[in-house]
Amino acid sequence: MKSNIEAFLDLVKERNGHEPEFLQAVEEVAETVIPYIVEHDIYYGKNILLRMVEPERVISFRVCWVDDAGEIQVNRGYRIQMNSAIGPYKGGLRFHPTVNMSILKFLAFEQVFKNSLTTLPMGGGKGGSDFDPKGKSDNEIMRFCHAFMSELFRHIGPNTDIPAGDIGVGAREIGFLFGMYKKLRNEFTGVLTGKGMSWGGSLIRPEATGYGNVYFAEKMLETKNNSFKGKDVVISGSGNVAQYAAEKVLQIGGKVLTLSDSSGYIYDADGIDAEKLAFVMELKNVKRGRISEYLESYPNAKFVKGKTPWEVKCDIALPCATQNELNEEDANMLLKNGCICVSEGANMPSTKEAITAFHKAKILFAPGKASNAGGVATSGLEMTQNSLRYKWSREEVDNKLKDIMADIHKSCLEYGKDDDGYVDYVKGANIAGFVKVADAMLAQGVV
Ligand code: NDP
Repeated sequence: MKSNIEAFLDLVKERNGHEPEFLQAVEEVAETVIPYIVEHDIYYGKNILLRMVEPERVISFRVCWVDDAGEIQVNRGYRIQMNSAIGPYKGGLRFHPTVNMSILKFLAFEQVFKNSLTTLPMGGGKGGSDFDPKGKSDNEIMRFCHAFMSELFRHIGPNTDIPAGDIGVGAREIGFLFGMYKKLRNEFTGVLTGKGMSWGGSLIRPEATGYGNVYFAEKMLETKNNSFKGKDVVISGSGNVAQYAAEKVLQIGGKVLTLSDSSGYIYDADGIDAEKLAFVMELKNVKRGRISEYLESYPNAKFVKGKTPWEVKCDIALPCATQNELNEEDANMLLKNGCICVSEGANMPSTKEAITAFHKAKILFAPGKASNAGGVATSGLEMTQNSLRYKWSREEVDNKLKDIMADIHKSCLEYGKDDDGYVDYVKGANIAGFVKVADAMLAQGVV
């Protein structure tokens, strides 16, 4: 078995040696899926995983725009159309200076499995730019988004590829992107998700990734007759996913101790309650400030510069910022402090070594492709509402989201249970996601 996995990974490394994040994501999947392929004749010998690691199409383009000082700026834009076996490409756009081919290919690859897990008919894709939105004026953001879409529009469409937001792309950016798409195509279609409520957006979409992560963690805790009630919860990030994860934790009786951004974390021993969270939402979403400014209003809290919050004692940890933000040392610290559950809101926030430590300690651990799938699932619901030209109520969408997260949890149990009864959610999510896509690829032949 080992040689099968090694031979496969050697080949992928040979072709993508300069893409460490992509290789990390592929390795995690290969280690759990290849043993399954070997045991199942219908998949064996068809190079199915080799086909899945090769994007169906990679688009790379120049984005030129003019800043407020009249200077011409040049950025790189990308769209990775990874796999369309079960539906049109679907996945977010990330605007962040670290964006490159490796990061986007890892995200697109994860997206294929995640979208399959949602049970909705969506293929996987991802895109973005090395553009840094931090410190830019609204007009600069608009000019960049318009320039980006003036090329991307020819590669996407409501039945081809439907992007959404991710790091650095929220409601404001989706608005500007949609405006330019509509102008160039002269059609009003559901080509992007995460749209505003008055022009085709779905209720609960902004909340969906954070809420969904907490619904998934609740399901995991239920298997141990446990819940969020009275639990200390440590959250990283202070963007879309972190904010709504915190909101849901508060609603179901947990205590939120931390939030963070790339400059450090805040620790509020009294708990970040609903009023304090509203302050954070205004600070991050409207004023576009830094998390350290929390202390100006709540001086009892602490700001720890340049660090992640995993050293704070907690029962539950929700990493909701970015990839590889929780390493082996952090994992050991969480375990030493008695953490019983880690549920990823971000994509691949835990390193491979950190995941091994969680598995060894046999705590509840959910990989992002399962636990943060609520975002794309609700994007899928937005697409359905756009096609029907209809709008479901907040409660209807929230109930559908809850059901989807419960279904994903069930799939993980089906494929992830070890002989001793421990649930390996990584294995469960990878195999469940793989089976649906692989079956569709086999049915469609070698294309
Ligand atoms: P936002 O841009 O809204 O927020 C990102 C947060 O993470 C900010 O607090 C940001 O801090 C922090 N962050 C970003 N990069 C780093 C870094 N290198 N080191 C430390 N902190 C960092 O993004 P989202 O909340 O939408 O996304 C967060 C994660 O969730 C990402 O991994 C994303 O892929 C994933 N995700 C998002 C979904 C969605 O629906 N939005 C769906 C599924 C997954 P700062 O402001 O300082 O950069």
